[in-house]
Amino acid sequence: MSDERFADLKKILEQRRREILDEVMKKVSEVRKTTVDEDDALSAFSNADVEDDIEFALVQMKGETLRKINEALIRLEDRKFGYCFECGGEISERRLKSLPFAVRCRACEEAREIQEDRERRARKVGIIDLD
Ligand SMILES: [Zn+2]
Repeated sequence: MSDERFADLKKILEQRRREILDEVMKKVSEVRKTTVDEDDALSAFSNADVEDDIEFALVQMKGETLRKINEALIRLEDRKFGYCFECGGEISERRLKSLPFAVRCRACEEAREIQEDRERRARKVGIIDLD
């Protein structure tokens, strides 16, 4: 992985992380009706059950995404992030920007969709034959 790509991917992940943290901080401060800092927002993930507020389901969901981003950042540090699960090729930065957790490159994803579509159709035909 080139240093340039490494820096770009890091930027993509950190930007996403920032967005989520901002959203969570906003939500937590709305619920608590007070300003919160990043640590307050992060602790809300583990205290969601005591907060007893429906809004915190959303916070928890964001927490899950944030966890994935942190994992991706760790993988990136090992230069293991951004490669296709199927062919091992680099997943384009454009793709990762819209889908940070994409595990396949576009070509492999498309091939997979075609394959799945074929299987679906084959199953359908099977059902019709049974009738
Ligand atoms: Zn691939």
